[in-house]
Amino acid sequence: MHASAAQADHHDVIIIGAGFAGLYGVHRAARAGLNVLGLETGVDVGGTWFWNRYPGARCDVESVDYSYSFDSELQQSWTWTERFAAQPEILAYINHVAERFDLRKHYRFEQTVTAAHFDDESGIWTVGTADGSRFRSRFVVFATGCLSAPIKPNIPGVETFAGEELFTARWPEEGVSFAGKRVAVIGTGSSGIQVSPIIAREAEALTVLQRSPNFSVPIPNRPWTMQEQEQIRATYPARREKSYYAPAATPHPSLTTKALELSAAEREQAMEERWNGGGVLFNKVFPDQNSDLAANELVREFAVAKIRAKIDDQSVADDLIPTDHPIGTKRICTDSGYYEMFNRPNVRLVNLRREPIEEITPTGIRTADEFVEIDTLVYATGFDAMTGALLRIDITGARGTKLADTWADGPVTYLGFGIHGFPNMFSINSVGTPSVMANMVLHSEQQLDWVLALIEHCGAQGIRQVEARAEAASTWTDHLMEVAEGTLFVRANSWYMGANVEGKKRVFMPYIGGFGNYRRFCDTERDNGYPSFELTR
Ligand code: NAP
Repeated sequence: MHASAAQADHHDVIIIGAGFAGLYGVHRAARAGLNVLGLETGVDVGGTWFWNRYPGARCDVESVDYSYSFDSELQQSWTWTERFAAQPEILAYINHVAERFDLRKHYRFEQTVTAAHFDDESGIWTVGTADGSRFRSRFVVFATGCLSAPIKPNIPGVETFAGEELFTARWPEEGVSFAGKRVAVIGTGSSGIQVSPIIAREAEALTVLQRSPNFSVPIPNRPWTMQEQEQIRATYPARREKSYYAPAATPHPSLTTKALELSAAEREQAMEERWNGGGVLFNKVFPDQNSDLAANELVREFAVAKIRAKIDDQSVADDLIPTDHPIGTKRICTDSGYYEMFNRPNVRLVNLRREPIEEITPTGIRTADEFVEIDTLVYATGFDAMTGALLRIDITGARGTKLADTWADGPVTYLGFGIHGFPNMFSINSVGTPSVMANMVLHSEQQLDWVLALIEHCGAQGIRQVEARAEAASTWTDHLMEVAEGTLFVRANSWYMGANVEGKKRVFMPYIGGFGNYRRFCDTERDNGYPSFELTR
């Protein structure tokens, strides 16, 4: 390689991903005076909200919380129109941020990272992309998303379908018309539950193919009033202060009284209020609902009655109500008319537990009992969560260590950021962080602030290599499991547990001890000079 080309190609830090996390990281690094390069698969910024543009995609965290807090002028100047923002508004916001801080200039788009290799001698990472480009840097930060590696199910005949094939996680930008179409949706997680009612309104016929039912709570969405907008602006700093160390990085705390310590009437009122607040709030009515089965059962019974009341045919309700996991141990979905949709004459539920899919053919889906002829097939089949995006990249750290081998028995991280054997590499919103259990935007800010502070510390102290210590990572991972085992979460075959991916090691991946507690661990590590990392001058 040409000397000047080699020079141009070298960066202080490469940040992979242009979602909420990566974008903030690039901004934070540039602000710190670092030579930063962003790499992104998509043609533009947005991450999750760039790819998941299916109709009905909407965030279940309130818009005014699910937004950056790092710049008060940005915070004050942006107006969210709805209480729970839909995908187009969130993407418009991310675009606004990219423009306001001129972040695109740091990025190379349409660059899918396929490999990242560490050179022991120079202490430099080389990052390779699908088109053969190579980029070098001292530090590499994977802000590649928790739910960004979509799964196409391995169903016999899956490649033979001749009609229109769509993925909620890769929805076409130009949109799709369902008018006059016979449509099937495979998958009844958050994505399938959001997209199906919209398809049902337009399609000639919709068949929902459900393997496992999920609980869903209606989203109490509405436009913000002018008065509310003014009030939020006036109290924004206090709202953020409440969130920075809160369990889910939002200003809404759990109630403090355990379920069984309340009277039946008090419990009913608490559940009604939280049900009316949406799925995220309903998952924390009582402090013990995710750890005590009796408390959980009360919440489950309340939800079941609500769901049954929406469905005309109770045999359909029987199929739609989960019985295989305590409520909340799989992510509670948030919908707009999902259960009511099954009262429509053009919508049908197929219970794949009773009649499994046998094959997909060019014209439809054959189950054990029937053949469903379709024009359009929508996959809402989920993601290889948390580890998938990283493990799809060939990551080789110090001493030739492969990430795939290091994590063969399950992922091990220190606070999510650091992986022993992978110096100068940081994973963001990773296994071992609260991430998917918290408000991702504030979580991402915390993550990148912490990593950039460490990178700055290295610069200031002349440290050329930083690597998480093996014992710190294994202690953190044990702690993670210990906290999870004190809850009901480990009883569900959820994507939190890696249970949706064949052959994936079953471990509870997020840190369930709360964002505030996690943040305190991170603060302590930083304030003590990073004792759990080996720092080499
Ligand atoms: P998901 O929750 O993993 O759901 C995937 C669905 O596909 C499940 O119903 C699964 O059934 C089904 N499936 C997978 N393979 C199948 C097969 N071979 N045959 C039949 N069914 C199959 O994925 P998701 O809906 O995309 O949601 C993932 C996460 O993204 C959510 O939990 C949430 O955290 C986030 N999300 C949030 C929002 C929001 O904020 N509102 C919206 C969308 C997504 P099984 O359960 O039986 O495997």
